Amino acid sequence: MENLVNKNCIEPLKKNGTPIIIVAAVKEAEAIAYACKDFGIKVEAFCDSEKRKSQEGFCGLEVIHTPTLPKRFSRARFLIATQQISDVVDQLSGLGFNEFYSANELIEKFNVNSHDYAISKPFMKTRLDIYKKSHEVYFDKDKTYMRSVDVMITTRCSLKCVSCSNLMQYYKEPKNSEHDNTLRALEILNKSVDYISEFRVIGGEPLMNKDWDKIVKGIVEKNPERKVFIYTNGTIAPKDEKLQPFKANKNINFVITEYGALSRNLNNLHNQLDKYEINYSSTVADNWVDCSTIKHHKRTVAQNKEVFKQCCVKYLYTLLDGKLYRCPFIANAAKLKAIPDNPADYVDLFANNQDIKFQIKRLVKAASFFPGCDFCVGRPYDPSSKLGYDGKGIVKAGVQTSKPIPYRLIK
Ligand code: SF4
Ligand code: SF4
Repeated sequence: MENLVNKNCIEPLKKNGTPIIIVAAVKEAEAIAYACKDFGIKVEAFCDSEKRKSQEGFCGLEVIHTPTLPKRFSRARFLIATQQISDVVDQLSGLGFNEFYSANELIEKFNVNSHDYAISKPFMKTRLDIYKKSHEVYFDKDKTYMRSVDVMITTRCSLKCVSCSNLMQYYKEPKNSEHDNTLRALEILNKSVDYISEFRVIGGEPLMNKDWDKIVKGIVEKNPERKVFIYTNGTIAPKDEKLQPFKANKNINFVITEYGALSRNLNNLHNQLDKYEINYSSTVADNWVDCSTIKHHKRTVAQNKEVFKQCCVKYLYTLLDGKLYRCPFIANAAKLKAIPDNPADYVDLFANNQDIKFQIKRLVKAASFFPGCDFCVGRPYDPSSKLGYDGKGIVKAGVQTSKPIPYRLIK
């Protein structure tokens, strides 16, 4: 596809012209909105695929629900505030727009400390560093680039959410991944791609794997510039000896999802992270889009292409048991043996006699769909639309199941 994203934004956006919309109402967007103000760029609004955000407002401006944009504007200039540039271009060009700008030029010399944000200043700095690098690499088409890799280190979880998008609710015998296998796979991956912006250590609940700290240490030791985000549910507060080695390490970040009383160790976790000066964000679980049903849809090729086109997690690379997948659904459905084993769905990093670099390029550049998509209800940018989506829409987050949910095993 022709590159529709402009690298330089200051001069073109300072000129009078079509409305300027910031995509989307994410954490980094707050700093980008301040940078616009500093340069005298007048922003009309934000847009976001999540409808609920349009009911609130962000940084004193309106948030337009993205699918409704064509009703409001025939043309607009879009300043991309997320790291997911490809997703934004896929979605908005599908709505008929074609003028996109990276904000890298705007934030190049932006002083994070000159403003206050909903998140802490160090956390904002980390987010902006990743943003800058992601956008920089996006413009280098010869490079194999992954915005983020989900490193799944366990299928065990201290909660069992019925709508878990990582499919934890189906595991009868959840297990931790071996830390040396995970690090070996990461080393192969690192040698085979040009750049990975962020490593997200996830589960299940990653802190249930007692070696989580060894994995995190292994990731940052290889390259001290790496940013690691540990996704946790507030049920476990790591002990002093686990956190001490990461004291004041600005590349280690915790992302906490709060599930009310279920997050029974939330305060302890906050206290421990404060004690060791470790960055974190902590937010209440919001409603989710139902995307956890495993069913063979037997769609046509055109239908599967539409499901994939609308999917908002198709760049959420997931590493599980030495295999690299394009999304957590296929990774876990394959591990559960709920979908047929199809090598087109993944790259086996431990396979012999294979050109791993070439295989990874195939996985990264694939723009159509994967065989596993035919078993997924879809995960659309716009959950209120039925386009490329067969699920229940918005569901309540964190509802628990007492027993693993049965599913059909593929023989
Ligand atoms: S807390 Fe819930 S959503 Fe998160 S991994 Fe565990 S089961 Fe899944
Ligand atoms: S299976 Fe396909 S449609 Fe479903 S989440 Fe993964 S990439 Fe998206």
